[in-house]
Amino acid sequence: MRNAADIVPNWTGASKAEEPLADAIDAILPQTQCTRCGYEACRPYAQAIARGDAALNRCPPGGSAGIRALAELTGLPPLPLDPACGVEQPRRLAVVDEARCIGCTICIQKCPVDAIVGAPKQMHTVIASLCTGCELCVAPCPVDCIDLVAASDADSDWTAAQREASRSRFERRNARLAREAVRRLSHRDDAAVASTGDAPADRLAVVRAAVGRARARRAARKAAARGTGEPGDFAERAG
Ligand code: SF4
Ligand code: SF4
Ligand code: SF4
Repeated sequence: MRNAADIVPNWTGASKAEEPLADAIDAILPQTQCTRCGYEACRPYAQAIARGDAALNRCPPGGSAGIRALAELTGLPPLPLDPACGVEQPRRLAVVDEARCIGCTICIQKCPVDAIVGAPKQMHTVIASLCTGCELCVAPCPVDCIDLVAASDADSDWTAAQREASRSRFERRNARLAREAVRRLSHRDDAAVASTGDAPADRLAVVRAAVGRARARRAARKAAARGTGEPGDFAERAG
């Protein structure tokens, strides 16, 4: 049976020898998981750099300071941020126009770091301190009620602690989604078995063997009862 470990993202883009470097690169990346670098999260981008397959200058949230830190770590020359990936800008946060929110929950499903709270058919809210400004919730909102706004002075920094917390939330979310996918798959398998009436061959064999043993016991009791003139058991007396 499949388990969560088979489904949880397991980016193995770097060889074992490259993983320590990928770890060090990943520790520098901002962990917004915004995908602007062209990779599906920070970790696969780190692995691509470690393999020598990606340039250092593809992370707009990390900006020029991030590129410098990556250059120092790898010994590669720093490059200007690749404009194809976006522009460097101060921290921004998602804000929901609560009056227009229809509670569809799509934004919750899209947020890579679980920064949105809400329930079906109820208004949703972004937890500012957790929001990475990745924008992944904005386009999917069917009523266009999420905006990115400049963070206040108090929220303008994206600290190392927030970066690490964001990575943890991203990993926990991936693990949770994997568990849910496994549950769905196993329910689907059960439903398929029930709908076709098919039981796995080994389960059928066990059932048949048990029925056979019960018949043999009943036949033995009947034979013994005939020999002694005694009734076999209550069920047979009653029958
Ligand atoms: S913060 Fe965004 S652009 Fe930077 S590495 Fe992570 S996913 Fe890529
Ligand atoms: S609330 Fe939106 S912008 Fe903020 S982290 Fe979640 S998906 Fe990204
Ligand atoms: S996607 Fe938009 S409408 Fe749907 S719950 Fe989120 S904010 Fe509300």
